[in-house]
Amino acid sequence: PVVTRFAPSPTGYLHIGGGRTALFNWLYARGRGGKFLLRIEDTDRERSTPEATAAILQGLRWLGLDWDGEAVSQFARKDRHAEVAHEMLARGTAYKCFSTQEEIAAFRAEQEAKGVSYAVFQSPWRDADPATHPKGVHYAIRMRAPREGETIVEDAVQGTVRFRNDQLDDMIVLRSDGTPTYMLAVVVDDHDMGVTHVIRGDDHLNNAARQQMVYDAMGWTIPVWAHIPLIHGPDGKKLSKRHGATAVGDYQLQGYPAAGMRNYLSRLGWAHGDAEFFTSAQAMEWFDLPGIGRSPARLDFKKLENICGQHIAASDDAALLHEIEAFLAATGRDALTAAQRDLLSRALYCVKDRAKTFPELLEKAHFALTSRPISPDAAAAPALDTVSRGILKSLTPRLQTASWTKEGLEPILTETATAHGIGFGKLAAPLRAALAGRSVTPSVYDMMLVIGRDETIARLEDAAG
Ligand code: GLU
Repeated sequence: PVVTRFAPSPTGYLHIGGGRTALFNWLYARGRGGKFLLRIEDTDRERSTPEATAAILQGLRWLGLDWDGEAVSQFARKDRHAEVAHEMLARGTAYKCFSTQEEIAAFRAEQEAKGVSYAVFQSPWRDADPATHPKGVHYAIRMRAPREGETIVEDAVQGTVRFRNDQLDDMIVLRSDGTPTYMLAVVVDDHDMGVTHVIRGDDHLNNAARQQMVYDAMGWTIPVWAHIPLIHGPDGKKLSKRHGATAVGDYQLQGYPAAGMRNYLSRLGWAHGDAEFFTSAQAMEWFDLPGIGRSPARLDFKKLENICGQHIAASDDAALLHEIEAFLAATGRDALTAAQRDLLSRALYCVKDRAKTFPELLEKAHFALTSRPISPDAAAAPALDTVSRGILKSLTPRLQTASWTKEGLEPILTETATAHGIGFGKLAAPLRAALAGRSVTPSVYDMMLVIGRDETIARLEDAAG
């Protein structure tokens, strides 16, 4: 069975790169009846904060990336990490190193003076006779790494990547204060959690070589590696805030639908033929490692908007309404009243096309959410001049008896326009201003049908004065 995981360090918000990594792992597991686990890599006590953990969980929940079981705290597993380091000692694949910081620093300085830019520290304790070990002194545990040959990382995205072993040092797995190093903790956790596939950013590719040594030292099975290229800005440079929002939460607050965000993120560095718009169910079915490209994906905000617009238009109305209400709550806006909810749900059919975000949709639906008296905005107000107000007034008696369908209303409006010698557009402008207080709205028929006869007549009478 496939087991994947997302292993964020809780030092900040959930970055869209992290969101994409989590999504790939989720899709891979969910599409194969596997498990998707979450591990919070909180061993760095200085930089890890509970707020960051909460922000990451919140971001994942919003994206709809549900994980199996409880989130695992890496820090809470420190005793297990130490236990494995001691097991490595017992197996002879690691050794006690009594070298002090000062000795190591002195070694580095010496090498630098000789012009060696990167010197691999060779601990004098690697082959020391245990009888010579100092007593009662703290020691670090170092891996007895192979000195010759190569460590070969077989990566599902990067292919075969070779590392010369003489470039890799006998890395420390347990510090002299008894705390595990990151490199040890990751391997022990992935092994204990039964992780079969590690999909993560390619900034971890070098770590994979070192981590493989730990797997080998313990005789554990190495997982399938898939190191994915990072996300770049639209200009091809490393993604930074100057390109736009980099936090998953920012996209939520801007009102992008989560399904659209998932769709868009899945296309950042992965492709299935030329499919651009698809559901998460389809993505689960299609997602695979060979479809991941080797070059960095570029953020494309136009494409994000386009995909999100298609998701909003394709949404089931009840689900859309639910998501809009969650958006209002998340952004601290007023909740919908029961009457507004009812009107919005009736208006969705005419406002969900061509809205790329929830704020855009809500703006289109303004006519349904607002209430009398309608105050026209600056763009709409000029349409309610004296002549137009007179025309609106003449319209109301006919609306009293009209059949309340598009077919019933259409002749009334076109005849009214003709009778006053104006085109339909000239009549639509004051109607939009009266019904919505806006100059850009859904069609006047849709607005009238949604708000109903009484409210339509009341708004026209208000405007006619
Ligand atoms: N905690 C690491 C990070 O946030 C990820 C480690 C891993 O995926 O192996 O970059």
